[in-house]
Amino acid sequence: MVTGPTTLWVTEKGTAPMRVAVVGSAGRMGSAVCEAVAADDLLDLVGAVDPSSSGDMDSTGTVVVSDSIEDVDPTEVDVAVDFTVAEAARQNVQWCADHGIHAVVGTSGLLESDLVSFRAAFTSSNCLIAPNFAIGAVLLMRFAEMAAPFFPTAEIIELHHDNKVDAPSGTAMRTLERMAQASNEWGTDPTELETISGSRGGTGPGGIQVHSVRLRGLVAHQEVLFGTDGETLTLRHDSLDRSSFMNGITLACKAISEHPGVTIGLDTLLGI
Ligand code: NAD
Repeated sequence: MVTGPTTLWVTEKGTAPMRVAVVGSAGRMGSAVCEAVAADDLLDLVGAVDPSSSGDMDSTGTVVVSDSIEDVDPTEVDVAVDFTVAEAARQNVQWCADHGIHAVVGTSGLLESDLVSFRAAFTSSNCLIAPNFAIGAVLLMRFAEMAAPFFPTAEIIELHHDNKVDAPSGTAMRTLERMAQASNEWGTDPTELETISGSRGGTGPGGIQVHSVRLRGLVAHQEVLFGTDGETLTLRHDSLDRSSFMNGITLACKAISEHPGVTIGLDTLLGI
């Protein structure tokens, strides 16, 4: 019996392919998304946007890259996938709402105030914002939420490549929020002296410490460490390659039309 995301992909078969524009198409993620969309029989790559390569072909040689999302014909696109920077994503996602286009957003650094604006703006199309499209990372967040009530102490270590400009990662932020919501019994930090400032990392929701590592060679990794009397539990997920995000992104493009308004995280689409 096939369950989970595969079921969603199968149920979409036989319907017209979703027409997808990739915003940030020349970036590390955007170029991989163009390839994943172009390779998927149930999706059509119809647009690519990136000011850094406008006028060039996208990474698959399918479409000419536009300078701005404003140059995209909204009648030609069903869903826009945004992997840019927060400042750009804010404008791009609003443009999608204004033009009745579904938005699938992976860009990190969006604020709670952005989500409030998006919830008001998406009335005729839908929006999914996911801090992590890797299915294993989505499961890790769920497992961390389940473990939280049973352990009074926990810390998160997130590890990323050395070009990542924001910290902590969107995934770490979302994991912290979910753990803090799942328990309010967290122990307090015993540290009285920090010989090197920042040694104990940052303090997130629930007072849970988070540590951000930036290292050449890494992609995207996260550990959640739990501790209680005489035992610890470590959850770890590793994205070894950007291909780890592609199944979740293509799934989102196919399923977004069935999820009204603004959805946060891939969980709902995965049925977990
Ligand atoms: P990157 O710097 O390689 O690419 C970003 C691209 O966006 C660049 O090519 C840039 O020219 C382009 N861009 C900037 N402004 C733009 C605009 N107004 N319109 C169109 N394009 C514009 O970055 P990346 O590694 O591809 O990551 C992109 C974002 O995705 C980051 O916020 C990162 O944290 C996030 N990310 C999310 C996930 C996830 O699963 N949700 C996974 C990996 C990365």
